Amino acid sequence: MDFSLPRETQALLARFSDFLQREVYPLELAFLNQPFFSIEPELAKVRAHVKEAGLWAPQIPKAWGGMGLSLCDFALVSEVLGQSPLGHYLFGCQAPDAGNMEVLIRHGSDEQKERFLRPLARGEMRSCFAMTEPDTPGSNPTRLAARAVRDGDDYVIDAHKWFTSSADGAAFAVVMAVTDPKAPPHGRASMFIVPTDHPGYRRIRNIPLFGHAGEGYPSHSEVRFTACRVPATNRLGPEGAGFAIAQERLGPGRIHHCMRWIGICERSFQLMCQRATERKIGNTDDTETLANKQIIQAWIAEARAEIEAARLLVMRTAWRIDQAEHHGRDGFYDAQIDVSLIKFHVAGVMLRVVDRAVQVHGALGLTSDTVLSHFYSHERGARIYDGPDEVHKVAAARRLMKPRASH
Ligand SMILES: Cc1cc2nc3c(=O)[nH]c(=O)nc-3n(C[C@H](O)[C@H](O)[C@H](O)COP(=O)(O)OP(=O)(O)OC[C@H]3O[C@@H](n4cnc5c(N)ncnc54)[C@H](O)[C@@H]3O)c2cc1C
Repeated sequence: MDFSLPRETQALLARFSDFLQREVYPLELAFLNQPFFSIEPELAKVRAHVKEAGLWAPQIPKAWGGMGLSLCDFALVSEVLGQSPLGHYLFGCQAPDAGNMEVLIRHGSDEQKERFLRPLARGEMRSCFAMTEPDTPGSNPTRLAARAVRDGDDYVIDAHKWFTSSADGAAFAVVMAVTDPKAPPHGRASMFIVPTDHPGYRRIRNIPLFGHAGEGYPSHSEVRFTACRVPATNRLGPEGAGFAIAQERLGPGRIHHCMRWIGICERSFQLMCQRATERKIGNTDDTETLANKQIIQAWIAEARAEIEAARLLVMRTAWRIDQAEHHGRDGFYDAQIDVSLIKFHVAGVMLRVVDRAVQVHGALGLTSDTVLSHFYSHERGARIYDGPDEVHKVAAARRLMKPRASH
């Protein structure tokens, strides 16, 4: 067993890391303290530099202007980019666009690819994904209330959605709605592409999270589709395949999120160690810092152990998926238990590490003078989106017990 990375991978990661140090970290304070749209032109310049450096959209195939990295390599890149809240956005691999790109590559018609995927992959437009509803449980999307009724060559969509991330400023939404309420639960819904300037689509508001509604890419909206008529050619994939496509979309998304979370752990860990070493805490003795306190030392050691273990678990999962796909099997199906385990485990590790880093910073940790407060508030959702902890625990336990139950 060899845990070292090939030299080319190390060199690639160093390029991402250098770029982050040079061009991304200096923008963070503006991102944390100013409205998104006011700094968007500055961010666009950095995105152009990313493209010039050949580091754009590492996760999508070269044919679509990306780098075509394997899941394992992209997982490692995602860890580096996750160290800044701007990393994934500036390199063209941010949620929800990355998931929508994957779905369009796999299921889009030629026309949909030209009209929606090409500009999305180039970073010329943004998109959103509208599945969750205020009035039905997001944890069980077979209960969706949204309807899309076939009418001649069109579908008419009526839906009330919320937590549609990045809808503010998005050019189109991928919306999930029930097309056949009488079908078996997993065959009821379909996906549709709806341009956001289409009649019948309305963004109602950006939902305040912990008191902040935000705007643009880092925001989450409530949206309505009212008698929203789209041509049947806007259906994404076959009728009734909505649930299967949503699952397919979430598989790679969970690996990407988990490695991004490891990146957040790494950044928080670095900040925690730095602050502990610099903060003088003694009455008169200037050599006495927070780092001398055993309780802080314990947090640092525990955090390091938790990060290392979480990282190995995610990388093993990504490796298993890559291996299965290499042998012609559905990697995400093979690795369902592993994906559930990393989803809740890594989210928990991240939130504990960020919380300790905030604590070491004292009041400073709560301000927008450090990225920690952003991580703390924006990443609490990690235990809820893409399947809450409890759903993954129940699913993993059921699958783990299956062979025993059959004896
Ligand atoms: C930051 C953020 C971004 C999001 N972005 C998007 C997006 O872009 N598009 C989109 O469509 N949705 C998005 N969501 C919504 C997200 O997918 C849902 O919140 C999630 O699926 C949970 O659904 P719910 O909120 O309706 O909770 P519910 O389904 O009502 O569940 C509430 C709680 O009940 C518990 N629970 C649920 N099921 C079980 C079970 N089987 N066993 C035991 N306990 C259970 C869990 O603790 C869960 O947290 C986002 C959410 C957040 C927080």
